[in-house]
This record gives sequence, C-alpha cells and structure tokens, in this order.
Amino acid sequence: MQAQEPPAKPKADIIFTHGNVYTGVAVMSAFKAIKRAEAIAIRGDRIEAVGENAEILKLRGPDTQVIDLGGHFVMSGFNDAHAHLIDSGFERMNVNLVGVKSLEEFRERIRAKVDAAAPGDWILGDGWDENLWPVKTPPTRWDIDEITRDHPVFVGRVDGHIAVANSRALQLASITIASRDPKGGKIDRDSNGQPDGILRETARQAVYDTIPKPTHDKRRQAMELALADAASRGVTSVQDNSGSWEDFQILEEIEKDGKLTARISEWLPFDDPLDKLDEKRKAHPASDNMLHTGMLKGFMDGSLGSHTAAMIEPYSDDAKNTGLPRYDVPKLNDMTRERVLAGYQIGFHAIGDRGVQMALDAFAESEKAAKEKKIKAANGGDDYRMRIEHAQVVTPLQIAKFRDLKVIASMQPSHVLTDMQWAEARLGPKRAEHSYAWAEFLKRGVNLAFGSDHPYGPISPFEGLYAATTRTSESGKQQYYPDQKISMDQAIAAYTTGSAFAEFAEKDKGLMVPGMLADFVVLDRDVTAVVPQKLLQTKVLRTVVGGKTVYEAK
Ligand SMILES: [Zn+2]
Repeated sequence: MQAQEPPAKPKADIIFTHGNVYTGVAVMSAFKAIKRAEAIAIRGDRIEAVGENAEILKLRGPDTQVIDLGGHFVMSGFNDAHAHLIDSGFERMNVNLVGVKSLEEFRERIRAKVDAAAPGDWILGDGWDENLWPVKTPPTRWDIDEITRDHPVFVGRVDGHIAVANSRALQLASITIASRDPKGGKIDRDSNGQPDGILRETARQAVYDTIPKPTHDKRRQAMELALADAASRGVTSVQDNSGSWEDFQILEEIEKDGKLTARISEWLPFDDPLDKLDEKRKAHPASDNMLHTGMLKGFMDGSLGSHTAAMIEPYSDDAKNTGLPRYDVPKLNDMTRERVLAGYQIGFHAIGDRGVQMALDAFAESEKAAKEKKIKAANGGDDYRMRIEHAQVVTPLQIAKFRDLKVIASMQPSHVLTDMQWAEARLGPKRAEHSYAWAEFLKRGVNLAFGSDHPYGPISPFEGLYAATTRTSESGKQQYYPDQKISMDQAIAAYTTGSAFAEFAEKDKGLMVPGMLADFVVLDRDVTAVVPQKLLQTKVLRTVVGGKTVYEAK
C-alpha cells in the first residue's frame, strides 16, 4: 500500500515581493514592532503568509500574480477611527474655506462660487477659521450680503460647531431679532440685538432645516469622492459618522456595485429611539466585514475653539463661560443605560473635562447595570469598549478612570496642529498640560485609537503621525507640550491596531500577519525612518483592501 500524498496546499492568488514590510505592533502595551518582512502572500481577501522572498515564493502556483514592490515600504492600511465621509464629499463639492487667510479672501472664495451658481442656489461650505486672519473676528452676515445677492449662504467654521449665514439665509430660516436661543445653542447679535449671522451649535439647525435636501445622486457622488480621497491617502477602514440612514444605504449601493474601496463601520445616532436603532442594526449583516453599522455616537459638548466644550472651570480667556453641555445628566444616564443593556457600543463626543466626566459617569453607571444583568458587549464578549471621541481636555484622575473602565480614548492627533494656536489661551497652562494627552493615556494603560475627524481635520494619516510624534506646527515654529509626544511605533499602533480594537476588529485588522485581512499600503518612504518634516510629504503608491488594489499612484 502506498502512503497517501498530503493534499497539495492551495497556492497564493497574489504575491508581493521585494518590499520593506513593517508588520506592525502586536500588543498595545509593549509597543515593539515585530520584525520586518520582504514578501506577502495573499489568498482570497486575507494574508496567507509573510516572510522572506524565497520562502513566500514557494507559495507561487501557475495562476499566482507576482508583483514586485521595488523595495518600497509596506504597512497595514490606516484605520481612521473617526471620520465624516459624506461631509468630506460635500466639502469637495462646496466652497472650501480651509486655510483662508483673511476676510477678503473669505469673501473672494464665496464670490467665485456665487458667480458659478444657478440663480437663487444655496452657497454652502466649510472650513473658515478667523484665528488665521489679521483681525481675529468671525465674519458676520453684513460682510457677505453685498457679494451674495439673492443667494442664501451658510458656511461653517473649521471646528464644525459654528456657522455664518447671510441675511437671505436668516430670512429663509425665520431667524429674527425676536428669535430666542435654542437649548444648546446661541444666536450671536449686534449691540441692537439683531442677529449678526453667527449661529452656534443647535442654533444652526433652523438654517439646516431650510436648505433643500441634496438629491440621492448628489449624495452618492459626494460619497464616492470621499471614498476615492480616502483610498488615495492609504485609508483602508473608516469608522464613519456620515449621520443619515440614506448615507448608509448609499454605501450599500456602492458595495453592491463592487466600488466600496474602504471597510466601513457606520455609526448610528445615540439619540435615536431604541426600536429605530434595532431596526437599523438588523438591516445589514454584522458579519459583512466591508460594511456594517457600528457604535452609537452621542454629543456631550461642542468644541474648544468655539468655547462650547463643557469645562469644569471657566475658560481662561472667557471667565464667565464654562461651555455648553448638551445633556441633562439624569436623562443622559437613563439613555446610556438603556442602550448599553441593549448591547450597543457607545462613543461620546466629549472635548472639555466636564463633557468627559459626564461620559465617564454615564459609562460607569450603565456598565455596572449591564454586568449585573450579565449583558454581553457588542461582540459577544465581556468588555464593552465604550469610547470617548476627542477627549481633548482631561484631568489625571479622569485618565485613571478611563483605564479602570477600559474606556477607549479615540483621538485625532492632527487637531493639535491647528488648535495649538489658541488652546493654551482657552485652558491656561495647568489644564493645557493634560490636553491632547496621548502620552499620558498610553503611560497609564489606556487604549488609544487614532483618526482624522475629516473634514474637520486633514484626512491624511501622515499629518496625524507627524502631529502625534512631534506636536510641532507644520512650519516647525511652534510646539505644544512636547512631553505628550509619542513614538512612531506607538502612533502607527494607535492608527492601526488601536483603531481596530476600538471597533472590535483586532482579530482581522491592524497587523501584517497570516490570517488578517489583506489591507495594506505601499508608501514612497519608510515612515519609521524619515525625519519629521519628510513625513508630511509621504506619497501613497498603492492601497490594497482585501487583496484588491483600490488605488495606485500614476
Ligand atoms: Zn467628528
């Protein structure tokens, strides 16, 4: 009798050779990169093997495609733990006011859009920041009325919490001298009580409600623009807060058409009633690793730039103001408990230390209730992985509480590049020392997840890596509390394994090791070995999602 041959091992579909493969950082607490590899074998949508060229090429069969990486640097794809894809897409379609350096330039860009618009069309846009202007005063409706004729205009500030409307837009939204400030918002006024066009937080809603809804086709066009942008920046996963159910359905259409170029976990609104949430959660299989619904996103407060982040002590540059908390605590705690007991992961936007405290307290209370009732976490496990989005201003005691409750700090390092111009003025040095406190979070054993908050920050992860490892302005002239710098290995971990953990996907994403999804990027330089300034010029040569190339540089 002859011994039976072992069945031939199926061959790889694709092999990438001659790369400088950074395989990743295995354990968040150790932060030691695993050793480099040269080649990657892929079968289906997963990594089959990683190793030396000769060893990996043994997996080559007659149908295996072999791609030479020419020595380039390869790493796990970036997992953006916090972005707003639909807003990013619309930003590309609307007037872009990012980086505008004066009121004149602000008016010029709006005028150009008016000239190109159909009569009466709304002029929408985002990104202005009066802190970059010689006179640091926000624009008013009177600054734009004369150039906008009969076009209603509504353009948002860079932080996403304030916008300015012209007179036509205010009129359409029925905002007059008699209008009262809505809860959680503010209508700015001149000395006569006339609204001056600046609307803060929930006060913007009246205008949003007036803007005609973009058509489905337009929304899809915006979503596709945002996805193409993300792919070209090496982003292979997005934890997305597009915000409307229609956007999720558009993503489903794009997936069906085979055009989804990033894996999406779409957040649902925390404020939605439970039955509505359950319906949405059931609408799409959770097992689909390209697209599914994820955590519930709620808002504790506003932003630091606009003085609306909720603070325990008043702002250092606004002695009567402690910001705008968006919830009454008892109601917040009730809603949180109800949702945690229903098995949802929750992420609260909280920027000020009071907002952070509200979130931590709500988590502590509801997790206790969930443990008593033996309720499982969203992945069926025992750790709930609640998240605080931004967590920009925290106290050392709160950091300890993050650790004890295993709350994830989901942060966007590139925010510090813009915020460093005024953050210390808002906070004073004692609080500023613990702001954007990446190093402190890590040192105290808190899980860190990195993202972009695009379009309220640059989508490029290289800006984030630069900010995280230098805390220095792009010009190199200004630095912000450098003690909070972290290493490149730590920053990459937060942007890959850390963000995967934050979405319960650490078994599938974040490392270049066998069994993980074949999501990776090929870069024109080794980001672990370049000087910081060169990091900002990093180019993505290729982006691969599930073994398929979704972007290739021309
Ligand atoms: Zn955001």
